[in-house]
Formats: sequence, C-alpha cells, structure tokens
Amino acid sequence: MATQRQPRPGTLAVWAGEKKDAWWGATQVPVAHSVAFGYANVDEWLAAARGRRPGHIYSRNTNPTVAAFENKVRQLEGAEAATSFASGMAAISNTLFTLLAPGDRLVSVKDSYGGTNRLFLDFLPRYQIEVRLCDTTDHRAIEAEVAKGCRVLYLETPTNPTLKVMDLARLARAAHKVGATVVADNTFATPLNQTPLALGVDLVLHSATKFLGGHADALGGVVCGPAKLVRAIHHHREITGAALDPMAAYLLLRGMKTLHLRISQQNESALQIARFLATQPQVNQVFYPGLPSHPQHDIARRQMRGFGGVLSFMLKGGFKAVRAFLPRLQYAHLAANLGAVETIAGPPATSSHVECTPAERKAMGIPEGLIRYSVGIEDAEDLIADLKQAFK
Ligand SMILES: *Cc1c(COP(=O)(O)O)cnc(C)c1O
Repeated sequence: MATQRQPRPGTLAVWAGEKKDAWWGATQVPVAHSVAFGYANVDEWLAAARGRRPGHIYSRNTNPTVAAFENKVRQLEGAEAATSFASGMAAISNTLFTLLAPGDRLVSVKDSYGGTNRLFLDFLPRYQIEVRLCDTTDHRAIEAEVAKGCRVLYLETPTNPTLKVMDLARLARAAHKVGATVVADNTFATPLNQTPLALGVDLVLHSATKFLGGHADALGGVVCGPAKLVRAIHHHREITGAALDPMAAYLLLRGMKTLHLRISQQNESALQIARFLATQPQVNQVFYPGLPSHPQHDIARRQMRGFGGVLSFMLKGGFKAVRAFLPRLQYAHLAANLGAVETIAGPPATSSHVECTPAERKAMGIPEGLIRYSVGIEDAEDLIADLKQAFK
C-alpha cells in the first residue's frame, strides 16, 4: 500500500470533500434539494438517526451537499470537525452563544468585523456576558485582560479594514493559561495563507461569503476545530436553525476548487498594488501586512504564507476625496463585500463598519478618508493603470 502522504492545499481545495459515488457516479457533488431523507423501514431510519449508520434525516440538521462543503474546509484548516451556517455572522453568533453563559467574560479587540463588534456591544451584554475590547495590536494589554480570567478570547487577523495583525500563537498561549477557548476569524487570510489551528487556536471560523466562495454569489459561514467543541456548536445551530442552504453549499464548493489559484494571484497582485500606492502623492498611508513598513510585518511573515488580497489606503483629501475618487475606477465594484474574483472598493462607512456611528469608527481608528480595496484576479497591471487614471 502507498504510504499516506498529506496532500498540499491546492490539491485539497480540488479534491477534499468530493465523493464520486454519491449519485450515479456524478463527478460533481449533486445539490440535494431535499428537506428530508427517506428510509425503507423504521430500523434503518433509527440507525441513521442514532448515528449507527451513515445517513441524513432532515436538512436543518445535516445535508449531503452541505456536508461536502464542511468536509472541504475542515481538511484545508487541518481540523478534526467542521460545521456550517447560513452566513459568517451566523457562524460567529452561534459559536459565541454556544461557548458563553451569563457571568462569563469575553476578551477581544476593538478592530473586529463591524457585525461582530455589534454582537459584542449590543447583544452579549444583554445576557450578562462581560465584554472587554482591547487595543488590537497591544499584545501586552490583551494578555493582561486575559490573565484576569475569561471564557473566550476572540481574535481576527488580519483585521478589517486596516489590516492589523495579531500574534495568534502568543495570544493562544496566554488564553490557555486561564483555560479560555480561543476563536479566530480567518476570513481575510483563508487557510491558504494562514492556519490558526496549527498556531494553537481552538476554533477557526470564516465568512465563506468572501474568499472561500470567491464569486460573490452565495452567503455562508463555517467553524472548524476539535470534534467535541464543533458538535456543541452544531447542536446549537440545529436548534437555532441557521443552516446553510444546499444550493449555496454547492456554489461555495465550486468556488473553492480554484481557491489556491485565486489566492496566489490575489496575494501577488495586492503586494504589487500596495507598493504602487505607497509611491502616490495623493495617498497618506497604505495598510498591507506584506509591506515592510507595516507595524506587524514581522508577525505576519512568521504566521502567514501570503499576505492576502485585501489592502486599504488613506486619501489625503478625506471623505470628500474618497467620494470623488471611487466612481472613477473602471475595474472595481463599489460594493460592501470583498474576496471575489472582481476587484471591489469602498469606504468602511458603507461596508465593513456601516453598523457603526462616525464617532465609533473614529474611536476604532478607522479614518473617514480610508478606502478598502479587495484585489480581484484581473491582471495587476490593468488594476494599477486603473488606479493611476483615477488619481489624475
Ligand atoms: C463579511 C465578514 C463577516 C460576516 O460574514 P457574513 O457572511 O456577511 O455574515 C465576518 N467576519 C469578517 C472578517 C468578514 O469580512
């Protein structure tokens, strides 16, 4: 027998989770548009319901197309188990409501995704959960808060939209000293660029809506980690009902087959564009972890294999300049999402942090002159030419 060799991520993105025997030998995972799954008799039905034989019962609980998607992400993240959700925010909220109970304490950072931040500030406190949000890159302050005791340390790196980077291995060590569970949002990096579980994080989650799907045509979320934790989160989802739709699972699966091609192109183009922007007189500052001038460049180099497809930059003229600049771009959707094959640009005020007031954005260090630029798979020279003509 051939020795078991761990396939590389590009191979996993194509083959993981795919089963040829599913339906008449279909080479593609079929879309199981079926709410329920029938059995010939009660004994077989019971055996499937009790997990004594493989099988699905009801699509809010499990579905074969959805399971294939979970399996693909699970293998890419190097996890024991995975469960999926109707959106990234469903993944985040179901995870937090599974792990936390009244009286618990959560430590996180000020720069989390806008929706996550609302969960921290508006929803968790209603359940008597204490939330402490630290300065995102102040590792000592985070360690000090964690040392006071907490149930969950919630991290997101690189952050949205200013691309701050946190040392996952260091913060996970601090959290484990007090028995906390470490959760990391890996949406920006993707498992191609960063595998948080390998760095000591307990649970890794994604908005699959972004780079995993990659085509901006399906919402989805996923959580990966040890079977015991994932089972509890999955059970929470079964009851709260935020299940991923099989058609969305199919679109995400199809998108993921080109994940490694897209990410390597986007890593390369984003670095080129960040370097170009850094030389432009109209630009105050460029935020990209791949630039040696980035304050956490060393941490990024240590824990990431590539620096990702999102960057942001600040225009000297503030929000007025942003408003004039954006419509001049020929090759960018002005839209709220990111991580697609097309380039997407927008100000945080209308995208990642639309849920926040101007004062909150200011407190979070998000300048009103900022543009988030999610690099697509177009030729980088065309994107640079497009930015050039928009600056003129
Ligand atoms: C978009 C996003 C989310 C939320 O995902 P949805 O699929 O829109 O619910 C969470 N985290 C990050 C980093 C995101 O970019």
